[in-house]
Amino acid sequence: MSTETKVSIASKETTAKMKIKNIIFITLLFLANSIFAQDFDINRVEPPNWFTGMKNSELQIMVYGKNIGNTMVEIKSEDIKLIKANKTENPNYLFLDIEILPSAKPGIFQINFIDKYRIVKKYQYELKEKTDRKRGFSSEDLIYLIMPDRFANGIWENDSNKLMLEKPNRKNPNGRHGGDIQGVINKLDYLKQSGFTALWLNPVLENNMPEYSYHGYAITDFYNVDPRHGSNQDYKRLSDECHKRDMKIIMDMIFNHCGSNHWWLKDLPSKDWLNNDSKFNTNYRGEVIADPNASQYDINKMNAGWFVATMPDLNQHNPFLAKYLIQNSIWWIQFADLDGIRMDTQAYPFKDFMSDWAKAVHNEYPDITLLGETWLQAPAFCAYFQSKSPAAGNYDSNLNSVTDFPLYYALNAAFNETDTWTNGLLGLYYVFAQDFLYADANQNVIFLDNHDLNRYFTSVGENINKYKMGMAVLLTSRGIPCLYYGSEIAQDGLESMGHGYIRQDFPGGWQTDSLNAFNYNGRNQKQNEIYSFVTKIANWRKTNKAVTTGKFLHFIPENNVYVYFRYSSNSAVMVILNNSEDEKRTVELNRFNEILKDYNSGTEIISDKKINKLDKINIDKKSVMIIELSK
Ligand code: CA
Repeated sequence: MSTETKVSIASKETTAKMKIKNIIFITLLFLANSIFAQDFDINRVEPPNWFTGMKNSELQIMVYGKNIGNTMVEIKSEDIKLIKANKTENPNYLFLDIEILPSAKPGIFQINFIDKYRIVKKYQYELKEKTDRKRGFSSEDLIYLIMPDRFANGIWENDSNKLMLEKPNRKNPNGRHGGDIQGVINKLDYLKQSGFTALWLNPVLENNMPEYSYHGYAITDFYNVDPRHGSNQDYKRLSDECHKRDMKIIMDMIFNHCGSNHWWLKDLPSKDWLNNDSKFNTNYRGEVIADPNASQYDINKMNAGWFVATMPDLNQHNPFLAKYLIQNSIWWIQFADLDGIRMDTQAYPFKDFMSDWAKAVHNEYPDITLLGETWLQAPAFCAYFQSKSPAAGNYDSNLNSVTDFPLYYALNAAFNETDTWTNGLLGLYYVFAQDFLYADANQNVIFLDNHDLNRYFTSVGENINKYKMGMAVLLTSRGIPCLYYGSEIAQDGLESMGHGYIRQDFPGGWQTDSLNAFNYNGRNQKQNEIYSFVTKIANWRKTNKAVTTGKFLHFIPENNVYVYFRYSSNSAVMVILNNSEDEKRTVELNRFNEILKDYNSGTEIISDKKINKLDKINIDKKSVMIIELSK
């Protein structure tokens, strides 16, 4: 063995000892780190992506995960700037204020989460391109309101989902019946042929509640469609299929509350995320929001009280929650190419926030139509919530449209009541006479019933003549008509028996149904009579500009007869209602000369009868005539 070799062996021994020492040291360091270091997780990032080319370059991303609020955040990009990483009292949340510069291109950017100079989590965030869109819904449309669980079951396999608490039970009026988005898609041709041009579905987002989950108003995830209805992609496909047919899609949203099983409730971002607790109920009196004499107590109870114990009341005055909700609606508009939003319980969230929301949405999408549910007792209260209405004073909701509940009340009473100085036809007349309160009453959504109300057929005592009178007014008066699914076949239902009874399955929507009311042969005689009445007027209405966009002119009801006109510069339609229970009427037409002087004849569009002379018209008891006038 040479000296050189001995030295070499000694050196190798020393190196080996040092290596062992190093390993021990590193192991100890690692152990120490494990004992003192935190675990970090990212469970949710919302919105799940955002868009380039937005007018508002700001974005706020909610990041949720264990201890993520204890990290530092870094974004290395020329075009995307981190302005601020906001923390709340809960270390499991971060709210990242980000600016997306106009130069930003669609693609991925990385967000680094750093603890003690070490990147502990990375997240690849995607920006997609904002697409240009120009639509919205208007009085030229006829809306069809669908409760998705109750209309048609397109996919049996999705009726039950292992992650969802409530399982299907079609025998329970308040249970899940299995209807879904695919079911709606399957019936689009039926709806198009029937004359409907826009769809409003009750909420389709996840409602993972143990019971009553079918109606959709207790959202437990604002970014995902309930798997029992389908997927986000299915909802987008529904929107695309509507647009292929020149139909529109209106999404139902709720900012007032969420479901008590929303994931936030297990770990709230902050104590002020919710208002009060379930013991403090709202007073349901939206009128106080407009009332100049209202007490602060009543306003506070209206806005900050809970709707029901299973629907925690969201505090939109928390700035992070406010941004979250506004961005959520913008995300859905962009993702699903929406034409409109129907905002649930418009008067319940704080009104300043609601105004900011509508303004922000219109800033990005000036043409989208925003409709607020204003379940209020008089025209002035509803008008308060329509943008720039004379009745709104200094408040601007920035909403295009409101739900015309006063007209609903009048239409539910008019044909059941005796005509007096104020009731019956006069009640209807006085609702239209107050249109001066609105910025544009032709943008009001009008209806005979909906998912919360008695079916109209039941309201009029299942009297077909009264039903037709209501339908005819709905389809020819000012406003955006909305039919509740099944109204075209006169479905019945009394709200006081339970909501399940006004939300019954559309017959034929399930493969096993013995009757299929989607077809002529599957409908009984009464259903076919109503179906042909409704769809004939609906399809005619589409082509008649005087009815869809013309002016409204009416004459004080006399002798049980109410006459109104829809007219434009060169066309006009006359509607005559005889509300007498037992007598036909002969109506002398000279009283209506201010319109009729320009016309010589007409066609009654329900019967197709030609009217050759405009001097007098006979009209049966409890009936309606719609006369398209000719020069
Ligand atoms: Ca299904």
